[in-house]
Amino acid sequence: MNDSDSIQTKRTEGVTRRELFKMASPLGRVTLDARDCTGCGLCAVECATGALSMVPGDNDDTCRLLFRHCLCTACGACAGVCPEKCLRVERTLDIESLKGPDEVLFEDEIVRCAECGAPFASRAMVDAMKAKLAITGKSAGTCLEICPGCKAGIRLSGAVR
Ligand code: SF4
Ligand code: SF4
Repeated sequence: MNDSDSIQTKRTEGVTRRELFKMASPLGRVTLDARDCTGCGLCAVECATGALSMVPGDNDDTCRLLFRHCLCTACGACAGVCPEKCLRVERTLDIESLKGPDEVLFEDEIVRCAECGAPFASRAMVDAMKAKLAITGKSAGTCLEICPGCKAGIRLSGAVR
């Protein structure tokens, strides 16, 4: 074997070892394109291990989507359920992340109901619904700033919005 063959073999073995290490890892990593995330929280609901969680931010008016590498089994359920298709899952082992704090994947303002003041959706989700309605030429008015419970009450009382 000449020098060139030897270097090539080592490089190939190195790549193969890295790939095998990743494939054999029991853990996964989730990455997110925060520009497309609406903060709906479906991924956290679907995550059976608790690796993803939607929690309040530093105050009651924000929410955060957190990720904990040591709990992620790379099952892919979160990516499968995400309506915006903005999650990616890879099988990997990141020793530094195992020791570190939970990773903040997404953070947003919480919208409070214009009627009762209860928190009910992220700002990104309300804005996304408004944008979808605008494409159809319809206006949501104040409807999207009201929680489902108050909307039902308004319908029952016969009020027209
Ligand atoms: S890949 Fe599975 S375990 Fe990991 S965050 Fe997504 S749903 Fe949870
Ligand atoms: S990543 Fe997807 S499922 Fe999770 S909160 Fe964002 S939009 Fe919802």
